Amino acid sequence: MMQHIIAVISAVLIWLVFYIFNKDIAIGALGSIAGFIIVELYLFMRKNDIDLTFLGLRRLLYVFKKRKIIKKSINYDSLADYTFWLKEEFVFPLSSFNKKIDKTVIQKLSSFEAAIFILLVNDNHNCIDCSYLTSEDFKELFTKALKEPFYKRLILKESLSQIIKPADLEKLLIKFEEQLAVDCDLSNENIDNDLFKEKVKELCAMGGEMTISIFSTTSQLSHDILKDLKAYQTSSTKVDIDFYLCSPNVKTDSAILELMKEYEVPVGALPFQFVKVRNKKAHVEMDITRRVFRVLRSFQDIKDNQESYCKTSVYLYKKSYPGCKIRLIENKFVELQPGPLKFANNLYRFRIASTDSEIIHTLSNAVKNFKGGNEVQCIELLNQPIEQAEKQALLELAEWLISRGIKTDDLFNYATDVHASSGDQETRTRLKFLQNRIGTAYKAISNLSDSINEELYAEENFEQLTGTGIREVKINNKIKHITVAAIFTNNNKILLIEKAKEFYQGKYSLVAGHVEYQDNTLADAVEREVNEEIGLGISSLSYIFHIDDLTDKCGHGGDLHDWHVFNSYEIIDENSLKLGAEVKSIKWVSLNELQKMKEELTDGACKIFNAMGWLK
Ligand SMILES: [Zn+2]
Repeated sequence: MMQHIIAVISAVLIWLVFYIFNKDIAIGALGSIAGFIIVELYLFMRKNDIDLTFLGLRRLLYVFKKRKIIKKSINYDSLADYTFWLKEEFVFPLSSFNKKIDKTVIQKLSSFEAAIFILLVNDNHNCIDCSYLTSEDFKELFTKALKEPFYKRLILKESLSQIIKPADLEKLLIKFEEQLAVDCDLSNENIDNDLFKEKVKELCAMGGEMTISIFSTTSQLSHDILKDLKAYQTSSTKVDIDFYLCSPNVKTDSAILELMKEYEVPVGALPFQFVKVRNKKAHVEMDITRRVFRVLRSFQDIKDNQESYCKTSVYLYKKSYPGCKIRLIENKFVELQPGPLKFANNLYRFRIASTDSEIIHTLSNAVKNFKGGNEVQCIELLNQPIEQAEKQALLELAEWLISRGIKTDDLFNYATDVHASSGDQETRTRLKFLQNRIGTAYKAISNLSDSINEELYAEENFEQLTGTGIREVKINNKIKHITVAAIFTNNNKILLIEKAKEFYQGKYSLVAGHVEYQDNTLADAVEREVNEEIGLGISSLSYIFHIDDLTDKCGHGGDLHDWHVFNSYEIIDENSLKLGAEVKSIKWVSLNELQKMKEELTDGACKIFNAMGWLK
């Protein structure tokens, strides 16, 4: 009743306005009828809770485009292409007047809009400002989006495209279509609903033979399956497990660094276990450290939980992680947890399980092909001491941290966070190792003034010699030289030089040389040597580490050498190299070739490669 009275009053007011200004009764009457209708309509929509803002009306229009958007999602080349098209076609209504998205907006979004939202945010189309959202808001958005089968299909396709051929993938997606429409198995991790665990339990009880493949980034899935097997196994259980994990080697393999994409999300969407700085953004270096530790922990877990009934192999993703968690029991069961890498947290994944033999067969083949390709490398955790794998991982990590400007204080300040989320007893020891390594690097890179030399050797019977040419000190009547070396790598191969000088003739070494009195810093010395030996003017060398007191003799009367090792990330153009007088030839060698060359290496090079974990 009230609404009609308001409408009538508005109509009379409009008529009055027209009458006062226009004196035209006919136009006044038309105006008041229009006013009456508009006010009635407005109040009707208001009563029925129809969103009446500009935003709300635009959103109504987008509903009409839904069919086109879903149809297009089936035929596209890459997810990036699709989201680009989407952005052009369907600029998210919220962006049109730069409205910041907050909780109230999220609550209003339909599942379709939530899906579009995530696709656009995931592909970094900066048309949406979601700096105000919290992880709870993102959870709500993801849960909504997962109600849209077209969204799930897109994410599934993107996730599997790295391991399945396009033709097989299309067939598989058609097969999955039915299951994608069901939304009871979604986002929430429900322990009672763990079909994989149930299947393992059932097969163990039957005393079955099982071949299991587990695709995961770091450790969680490997940890769980071993625990489950231990609980369920009977005397006649026999299991073969292939674990696929990210390689912990930051420098030689890039898989873990690839996960840095996960940090390119709005701060609110960062998973809780990530190491963060004060502004809630990820602390990239500390979080990569946490991830490396997690992988090392799973090595230990797998080794510790090794049982006689269970044969495990560990495969490391070298270049990248395919983005889909898979738990597969050959011929029996498969479970997928797809998720775009940027939102790969378990919170945002969804889960599809299947016992369909054709689906299992296609995925088994995909996993086998993947294993056969050169994307993964098998490591022998059982036959090889874990310490060796761990040492290489930590050395590479230390080197990477130094190159990223990390200081020992950073490790100290974040020790608790790293410890909390990697949850391993070894964490403190590993952090200490990194701290020492980085500390030594910073100490040694400082300048070579006499006072520092004195400080370094204060404990010993030390005599500072002066002059020109090679810098030398006399310690307990032995001559000690300081030497610098530069490691250049290209395409997983290391640059070696063949020495021309008589003293080393026929031997191979790194680009290296003695520090001279003319050099003010170690950096000066290494740059000079690089220029003299291979004719390269380079300033991108970063300090990696220091080896003390090597008892190797040189052609200049030195008995002891302190080696300072630098590394370059620059890719060298071989044709631009000019070999100096002391260099006979150069050679790029792989790690395997390096093993066979031990006898041909100079003493210093051998010790440096040992310290790098490159020589066994
Ligand atoms: Zn020397």
